[in-house]
Amino acid sequence: MRRLLATALFAPLIATAPNAHAWGAGGHQAVATLAAGLIRGTPAEAQVKALLGDMTLQEAAIWPDCVKGISAAQGYTYPNPGKYASCASLETPERIAEMASYVRRNDRQCEPKPGEESCHQQYHYTDVAIQRSRYIEGFAGTSGHDIVGAMQAAIAVLQGRPSTPPISFASKREALIVLTHLVGDLHEPLHVGSIYLDGDGHAVDPDKVATGDSESTQGGNRLLLPVVPPARPHSLHTTWDNIPDSLDARHVDAAWLKQARRVHATPGALQDWPARWASEVLEQAYDAHSGLGYSARMGESHSPHWNLTLPAGYNARMATMKQQQLTRAGARLAQLLNALWTQPAR
Ligand SMILES: [Zn+2]
Repeated sequence: MRRLLATALFAPLIATAPNAHAWGAGGHQAVATLAAGLIRGTPAEAQVKALLGDMTLQEAAIWPDCVKGISAAQGYTYPNPGKYASCASLETPERIAEMASYVRRNDRQCEPKPGEESCHQQYHYTDVAIQRSRYIEGFAGTSGHDIVGAMQAAIAVLQGRPSTPPISFASKREALIVLTHLVGDLHEPLHVGSIYLDGDGHAVDPDKVATGDSESTQGGNRLLLPVVPPARPHSLHTTWDNIPDSLDARHVDAAWLKQARRVHATPGALQDWPARWASEVLEQAYDAHSGLGYSARMGESHSPHWNLTLPAGYNARMATMKQQQLTRAGARLAQLLNALWTQPAR
C-alpha cells in the first residue's frame, strides 16, 4: 500500500486488494522470517529480542504499513481496527499508542508539497528514473526523506547517533521496526525505479527535461494493466507488491534459507548500504519495465494514467524476480542486524 492518496484518487477505478500492503504482508513476513532464520543463535538475535520484547520480527516487518491506519485528520486515532487482518496483533491500546506517537512525529515535518503523501508514507519508496544506473540523492524522484534517507536515519539511530530531521525515530526499537520493513520495500523494484512518460506514452528523462506531476507514473501506480471486464483495473505497482502464496512466510524452509546464505556480503560502511542496494534494485526496475507498451495519457489531469500492454512471458519473469528479491531482502536484513550487533546483548 504505497500511496493512499493515489489509491483514494483511483478509488472508483481501481480495485484495492484486501491486503494492499507493499510486498503484501506475506512478502514482508517472508523477509523477516528469512532474516530471523539467518541470525538464529547470534548476538544480533538477542539484541533484536531485547529491543522488540514481545513483538516478533514478523510483526515489526508489517508495522510501518499498519501505522497508515492512524488518522491524522481524526486526531491521530486508529479509526478502523480490523480493516487489515494482518495488523490485528498490533491493534492493542499500547501498540496503537506507539504507532500514533510515530505518526505524530513523522506526519508533516518534511513539509509535503501539494499532492504528496505524509512524511512517514514517503519513507517507503523513491522514484529514481529507470534511465539511471545508480541511486544518487538529488536525482529526480529522490529526497532526504525517501526510502534511502529513512533507512540511513534508522541505521544511525541503531548505531547510537541522532536521527536526521525531518525523520524522527524516538528509540532504537522504533528504528529497528521501521528498518525491518524498509529493507523489504527497497527490494521491490517499483519502490525504487519509476518510468516517466509524456502525453503520448513516450518515456522522458526527468533529469534531462523539465517534468511535473503529469509525467510521473508514481512508481507504476498510474500504469494500469489490461483486465477483462467486469474485473476492475489494477496497477503495475500493485501487481509487483503482491506475492504468490508460494512465496509467503510459511514457505521459508531450509532450502530457501540456504539460498539466502548464498547472497553475497555487502561491502563498505553500513551507512552506504541502502544507496548501494538501491542502485542494484534499479537494474531490476529497468527489467520490470522492459517490453511494456504504454497508451497515451488518459484520465483527469490531477490523476492521469496510462494503459499497459505486457510482453509475452512477463508474469513468469516477474515471479522469478520476486523470489530473488525477497531472498536478497531477507539476507540483507540479516547482514545489517549482524553488522550492527557483533557483541553479545548486555
Ligand atoms: Zn512499505
